[in-house]
Parts: sequence; structure tokens; C-alpha cells
Amino acid sequence: MLNKYVKRNIILLISLLFLSNPLYAGLQVFACEPEWASLANELGGEHLDIYTATTNQQDPHHIQARPSLVAKARRAELLVCTGAELEVGWLPLLLRKSGNPNIQAGQAGYFIATDYVSLLDQPIVLDRSLGDIHAAGNPHVHLDPVRLQQIANKLSHTLTKLDPANSSDYEKKLELFTQHWQNMILQWTERTQSLKGKPIVVYHKNWTYLQHWLGLNQVAVLEPKPGIPPTSSHLSSLILGLEKSPAQVIVYANYQDNKAANWLSKKTGIPTLELAFSPAKDETLTHWFDRLLNQLLKLQE
Ligand SMILES: [Zn+2]
Repeated sequence: MLNKYVKRNIILLISLLFLSNPLYAGLQVFACEPEWASLANELGGEHLDIYTATTNQQDPHHIQARPSLVAKARRAELLVCTGAELEVGWLPLLLRKSGNPNIQAGQAGYFIATDYVSLLDQPIVLDRSLGDIHAAGNPHVHLDPVRLQQIANKLSHTLTKLDPANSSDYEKKLELFTQHWQNMILQWTERTQSLKGKPIVVYHKNWTYLQHWLGLNQVAVLEPKPGIPPTSSHLSSLILGLEKSPAQVIVYANYQDNKAANWLSKKTGIPTLELAFSPAKDETLTHWFDRLLNQLLKLQE
């Protein structure tokens, strides 16, 4: 029979073993959007314990800072978000409510992807009065694989800073990711040559970086301004322009209402296409990009 003292020590030893196991002691990551969860997973894998605040079925511009999100933010050691005002409606409140000093602006655990890349659609004159939600430039950078690589380099560096014990592993993972990703960019660029210059209509200006990368030509936007829902007068005004120079497709994100796109499609005969705006749960960035590009390429068949 083991006496009480020995028993207690065995229990203590087992608890310590569990605590030192990376599975149980991963760096706590709070990702605002699924793309950053996917990227963090590529770069940190088993060393991270990742929570994703939103799914690809939600509009990241409009999220509620609900108590379950606050509780997760309270425990986070690293926050990974888009920035450029994408989360301006909910992240500041969430950070305040979390009371977590590690993930506040300026801290090592506060990682904002758009801080590390150039932004498209930078307004020449800043005017928020008309409700433009892209006043800080277009925040939807995750749709450009080249910018994603730049963000990956910085994120990997942040992981090393926060968890230096695993730095060599983070370096290795970044190297593997980079090799694979650069190879994919070459393949994707080659496969999508035929999309260059193709005219498209979009619901919201959230495909800008993808268009820019693929050379797609955006000829109309259903929203009169980013964040302002399509109005019937605005949609009617688009018909005339599209009759003169038709588009190949009307693209909207899976979280957006398809009514306006369907209406315009009926009037103009241009087909609609729903695309996943972010990776699905546990989907890799590669798989998601493949899916997007395949859907766009299918239009031409
Ligand atoms: Zn937007």
C-alpha cells in the first residue's frame, strides 16, 4: 500500500508531466478570422492552442463582442487579427472587456496583419460621413497570397518572440510553409492566366486583392459604398453600364445576402457565383485558395 505522502507526490508528478506536454500547454492564440487561425496553425502547429472568433459564415465587419469571445480573449497570449478597421466595431470593446494586458495594442501579443503589408483602395480624401467602412484602406488582404507570405514571415517572428523555447521549430515550419506556398503561387498564377482582364461584378469590395493578383477587372459593385447595402436605384443604374460592357460573373461572399445579386442577374443575364470568403473550419489556406480558383475557372468552361 502506498502511503498518502507518496500518493500525493505521484499525482503531482503526473500533473507536471501533463503541464509540460505541448498538447496541454500550447501558446493560447485568439484569431479574429479563420484565415489567421489557418496561418497560425501552419506556422505553429502543435505548439499553439488556437481559438477562432468567427467562422466563414459571418461578416467580419459585424461581429458581437459576446461574453464567450471575451472569456477566450481573457486567456489569450497572442491575438491575430486583420486590422485596418475591419474589426473596429467589435475588437476594441472585446480588448477592453478582456482586461488582458498581453494582447493590448503595442504589446508583443497583439498582431495585426495589415500592419505588415501595403493596402489597396487607400482613400485620397478621408470621408467617413458617407458610411464607408474601408476608410483606412481595403482590409481584406488575406485574398492575396503574396501578402499572406509577408504576413506569415512576421507572424512566425512573433511566435518565436512569445515562445523562444520552440524557436527552431517555428523557423522550420516557416521554411516549409514558404517552400510550399511559393510553389503554389507559381502553380496558381499559371493556372489562372485565362482569368486576366475578365470583367466581374462584386457585391462588396472584399475581393479587391484577389482581383488585383489575378488581373480580374471589377466593372461594378452592388454596394454604393463599402458597407452600404445595395439600393434599388443604385442597382438600376448598374444595368445600363453592364449592357454597354457586360461582365462575366456577379461574385458575392457566402455570408452575404444573395437577393441583390440574383436580381441583377435576372435583369442582365450575368450568372452569380457564391465564394467562400475565408477558409472553413480546419481547412488549410491552400485548399481554400484551390477551391476559390477552381470555382472561378469553372465559369469559363
Ligand atoms: Zn470590407
